[in-house]
Amino acid sequence: MFKNASDQDGNHHSAGYLREVPWVAIPPVVTAIRVLEKIVPDGGLLFDTAVHAFKNTPAEPAASIRPNSLRGRIEDFATWASNLARCLGRDHESVPADPHGAIGLARFRRTLAWHIACRPGGLVALAIQYGHMRTAMSAGYAARGRDGIHELLDIETARATADTLTTLHDDLTHGVGISGPAARRAIHAAAQAPTFAGSIRTHRQARDILGNPALTVYDNPRSLLMCVYNRDRALCHRLAATDAPRLDRCQPSCANIARTDHHAAGLLAHAEALEKQSVSEVLPGPLTDRLARRAGQLRELADRHEHDRIHHQEPNA
Ligand code: SF4
Repeated sequence: MFKNASDQDGNHHSAGYLREVPWVAIPPVVTAIRVLEKIVPDGGLLFDTAVHAFKNTPAEPAASIRPNSLRGRIEDFATWASNLARCLGRDHESVPADPHGAIGLARFRRTLAWHIACRPGGLVALAIQYGHMRTAMSAGYAARGRDGIHELLDIETARATADTLTTLHDDLTHGVGISGPAARRAIHAAAQAPTFAGSIRTHRQARDILGNPALTVYDNPRSLLMCVYNRDRALCHRLAATDAPRLDRCQPSCANIARTDHHAAGLLAHAEALEKQSVSEVLPGPLTDRLARRAGQLRELADRHEHDRIHHQEPNA
């Protein structure tokens, strides 16, 4: 279902419509939805007032709990998470008191969008969750405007892209080398970073950046590379051309790959860790062989980087 659905005359349809394109979700989201499905009665909404409303609040038929109640739940969740962190001796993971008051629904959504776009591995979630949404939107969730979490995701994604380009620009300026088939495109994109660094405040600004194919650079720390996205060359989705990469399906032979010295250092560190595990006497032989083989592949990639690396001052860069 999606909310804010309206009929062809523009009238709001309060019960929503079933999505034509199923919503692809990452495993934790699927688990959370499965739990909610078990809590609510058959045919009920996931946050149905019938079971989620407080006892002294009259339940409305076929309605979900209101923003005010959700605000309270978010505060309760923050308190619960902080208490748990303290019980486990992990005080640094408790939610700090907020000088701006209660977190509220709008700020919570903003925080979610930031985590999806900016945290390590978040881009993978982004590629699955949001990449799908972007495809679905362009493929015909009809011509509905992007709003709410979609706009926030655009803004946070554009900021993450700008941060990646700014970091790359600083690195290249300080002599960090770069290699890979997309190295020169990455250098070109990084050169434009100073023009928009710190300037993304509105959805329009975000869309200008996300819509500029020369700027679509995504760091992919899990694969120890940078994706300088060009959808015609992407190997992660050969059948469906989309405007976002599938970082979780990154292919090592893709022409969109670039690596900096930092990625190469990460490759070597990872190889070293695998080599240590591969001499373990408690692991079975086939597993230690596989670890050693993988370590060798990572070292090969790092060697290739060392051999091919260029600097942005070089001619033709
Ligand atoms: S396969 Fe290519 S386009 Fe896809 S994530 Fe990897 S580098 Fe980017």
